[in-house]
Amino acid sequence: MHPFSYTRATDTRQAVAAGRAGGRYIAGGTTLVDLMRETVERPKTLIDISGLPLREVTVTRRGGLRIGALVRMGEAAADRKVRASYPVISQALELSASAQLRNMATIGGNIMQRTRCTYFRDVSADCNKRDPGSGCAALEGHNRTHAILGTSDACVATHPSDVAVAFAALEATVHLLGPDGERRVPFVDFLLRPGNTPNHEQAVRKGELIIAVEIPALPRPLRSGYLKVRDRQSYEFALTSAAVALHIRGGVIREAKVAAGGVGTVPWKLPAVERELIGERPSNALWAKAAEHAVDGARPLQRNRFKVELLKRTIERQLRIVGGGK
Ligand code: SF4
Repeated sequence: MHPFSYTRATDTRQAVAAGRAGGRYIAGGTTLVDLMRETVERPKTLIDISGLPLREVTVTRRGGLRIGALVRMGEAAADRKVRASYPVISQALELSASAQLRNMATIGGNIMQRTRCTYFRDVSADCNKRDPGSGCAALEGHNRTHAILGTSDACVATHPSDVAVAFAALEATVHLLGPDGERRVPFVDFLLRPGNTPNHEQAVRKGELIIAVEIPALPRPLRSGYLKVRDRQSYEFALTSAAVALHIRGGVIREAKVAAGGVGTVPWKLPAVERELIGERPSNALWAKAAEHAVDGARPLQRNRFKVELLKRTIERQLRIVGGGK
């Protein structure tokens, strides 16, 4: 580990000023400390923001939810308001990491976490995300767990978060506080596809601090849930996953929110699947037909072709679990 200085922020303004001066924010530290040990990350200054007052889950005036950036994953998963309104969020959180990690890691840190591509964490390997211009060892290497959607010739790594898939499906908004004040970024624009600059991963400007994630109010009744498919049943990242929320009234699907995880360089919103569902009556035939669109534009690699079929089946199965049907 390289030497660094450490400072504790006592209010958000002080934190942002320190961030603007080049410091890196740290809260739970469950990703950053690992990466510092492996010398993948070498921050000169850490700003501990864990004492800032960003630990509440509140109902917004419009009936949505605002989850403070420093709410722990475990706290958010157990929160009654989250469980009652958006089971897809609590399920995604409960299927993430280990209980110990969920008790430390925060919502803000979760959406800022970096890829689990093994080459990214191996400082002897070529990796454009860690060392721009060096190449991508995964393109011809062990790419079984890598992305099939949103990839580029520069990077094919998946985004590892589960709850980010739920946030993408529900069309959440990220609230940021920076030197110029507060701004909001739609979640689907917050995480960046790699393109030619895979080292730029989030739409965060210098010094900006995530203060909350807001979930919009959606029509009720709303059924929702998260399905995660992985090599083993605990403490493992998704091969594929599906976040689904459906508003069904009068036997007709009025609203559909669907996103996939484990397959995209960012959580992968599926508007073509949603369009196929809206205005239709739930049925097994409909779920299968809609799920075909989940792989629109997919570009599998040599070792992850199985994800194309697996993704279709994951989406179809979760549509059936959430929406019922015959
Ligand atoms: Fe690096 Fe991305 Fe290639 Fe992995 S897939 S080695 S993170 S450039």
